[in-house]
Formats: sequence, C-alpha cells, structure tokens
Amino acid sequence: MHDFSYHRPSNVAEAASLLAGAEDGKLLAGGQTLIPTLKLRLARPSDVIDLSGIAELSGIKVDGGTVTIGATTRHADVASSAEVREAIPALAALAEMIGDPQVRNSGSIGGAVANNDPAADYPAAVLALDATVETNKRTIAADDFFTGIFETVLEADEIVTAVSFPVPSRAAYSKFPQPASRFALVGVMVAETGGGVRVAVTGAGACVFRVAAMESALSSDFSAQALDGISLPPDELNSDIHGSAEYRAHLIGVMASRAVAAAG
Ligand SMILES: Cc1cc2nc3c(=O)[nH]c(=O)nc-3n(C[C@H](O)[C@H](O)[C@H](O)COP(=O)(O)OP(=O)(O)OC[C@H]3O[C@@H](n4cnc5c(N)ncnc54)[C@H](O)[C@@H]3O)c2cc1C
Repeated sequence: MHDFSYHRPSNVAEAASLLAGAEDGKLLAGGQTLIPTLKLRLARPSDVIDLSGIAELSGIKVDGGTVTIGATTRHADVASSAEVREAIPALAALAEMIGDPQVRNSGSIGGAVANNDPAADYPAAVLALDATVETNKRTIAADDFFTGIFETVLEADEIVTAVSFPVPSRAAYSKFPQPASRFALVGVMVAETGGGVRVAVTGAGACVFRVAAMESALSSDFSAQALDGISLPPDELNSDIHGSAEYRAHLIGVMASRAVAAAG
C-alpha cells in the first residue's frame, strides 16, 4: 500500500470539501473493494476520506411508496430490515445473497452502486426497480446512472448519499452465483413498477442492462411462459473461465423465468 492522508469527516459537506481539495481523493465506505485495490497498489490516492463517521449517510427510511437507503448502510442491515422485507422483499433477499457474512457486514449500498462491478447485485435492483441515486449534488435516474464497466455518471468529487427505491407492485431477483466469490455469474431482477415491467440483468455483460423484449412480453402476460422463445445473442456477453457467453445467454432466460415465477 502506498502512503496517503486519512480523513474521517463528520458530515457530507466536510467530506465533499476534503474530496474537492484533494489531489487524488478516494472515498472509503465498507472498504471491501477499495482496500484490496490499495493493497494491490492498483490505486494510489493522495487522500482517503472515510465516510463511516457520517451519521446522516446511514439508515433506512420508508416513506409512503418509497424506501430510501443511506449510502453507508450495510448489506446485512438491508437484508435484515423488517421495513425493507415488508415493502420490497426482493430487495432484502438480494442483499442477503451478496458475498458472505463478512462482506455483508462491511460492504455498503453506496459503495456497491458507485463501484458498478459488472457482476454486482445492487445495480440490477437499482435498474429494475427504477430507483434514483441521490448525491450531494443531484438526483440521478437509474437509467442514466450506470454507464459501463466499473463506470457511472458520478463526477470525481461527487458523493452518493442515498438510493431511493419506489415500492413495486411485485418483484423478484434470481441469481446464479459464481461459487467462490458469490458474485453473480448472471442475476436477473424482474419488477412491475408504476412505469411498467422492468427486467435488469447483471453479471452477463460489461454493465448491468435491461432486456426490452422480455419487458414487452411480460407487460402483456406476466408469466414465465411469456418468456419462452426469447433469447439474447451471446455476441456482447461476458465469456471467462467461469462461463462462456453462450452459457450466460442461456442463464439469462433461466434466471428471468425463475424471477417471474417468484414474483408471482
Ligand atoms: C469476497 C467478496 C465477495 C463479494 N461478493 C459480492 C456479491 O456476491 N455481490 C455483490 O454485489 N458484491 C459483492 N462484493 C462487493 C461488496 O459487496 C461491496 O458492495 C463492494 O465492495 C463495494 O462496497 P464498499 O462499501 O465495500 O465500498 P468501498 O470498497 O469502500 O468503495 C468502493 C468504491 O466506491 C467508492 N465509494 C464508496 N462509497 C461511495 C459513496 N458514498 N459515493 C461515491 N463513491 C463511493 C469508493 O471510493 C471506491 O471507489 C464482494 C466483495 C468481496 C470482497
């Protein structure tokens, strides 16, 4: 690990000012991705700004038809939240599927969406549930947030403060985990929202994506059978030692059907 200056601000404004003033500042949330990156010397920030002392960034609020989760809220807290389980059970179930107990007790939703790992679970929930990502500067719609492999529209000095999920009429997430890391080889979230049916796939491509053909079929008939015959070309899907592009294309259909059946 290279040397860096460590800061532990107590509010978002202070964190934003430290980030803006740093030569190459990095925010630290659960550290599940950042710490290994530093240890491997893949990043060499001048300043690390630890968000763990900022109380306003943590917690879960259910207000009418919206579940708002603070950026530093741990996956384990989302998984065990009675309010999330009641309002969006699929979201609590997704959080419960992330990694292992250590990862779930350290990793945060803000870190997960900002990092946008192509095999991470939360991006599928954010996109399928038509969530909004709140930052210290603006509110960003899910469809605009994820832009590519490990890339989002976040600016270098922008801090995710919360993610807001509108409560869907029904939703489910189905994941085929890579057995060692538990990341998604393919994960599919299906949701019926105020804006229609949305299907988001993670793990299969460079970045989470929606499947228009499935959304259209499910809009007329919300059943697993409605997905029969819909397949994705493997051309642009991931292929690695864990699974070929063809295998992932097949898994998208299987996971989507399971999610639809589970959503009821
Ligand atoms: C062994 C292992 C298994 C895992 N398995 C899974 C899995 O099955 N599914 C899954 O989805 N994930 C998995 N993860 C990822 C993990 O769950 C975390 O979501 C991920 O590491 C990022 O969250 P973090 O809070 O640890 O962020 P950090 O590591 O602290 O930060 C990650 C990145 O996000 C930035 N960042 C953090 N917080 C903010 C913020 N509020 N605003 C702006 N930028 C911010 C940081 O600067 C950094 O660039 C796994 C990780 C490990 C180590």
